[in-house]
Amino acid sequence: MLLYIYFPIFKVDRFYASSQLCNNCGYKNPLLKDVRIREWDCPICGVHHDRDINAGINIDREGNRLFSKVKQEKK
Ligand SMILES: [Zn+2]
Repeated sequence: MLLYIYFPIFKVDRFYASSQLCNNCGYKNPLLKDVRIREWDCPICGVHHDRDINAGINIDREGNRLFSKVKQEKK
């Protein structure tokens, strides 16, 4: 027996500032346009971020937001 599982794919806008947004409070840090900065502390909430992990969390969150939007539209 074959079991198929379908995962929807959502394309996050390329201009979405995934690495500049604090995943804890949403603050957008303009200094992070410099890609050489790999770790940073949010000046608002104080959380320490690894640039790539923070971006991954933000992209996951944005994908879930887009998925919820599609689910709402289908109702
Ligand atoms: Zn923050």
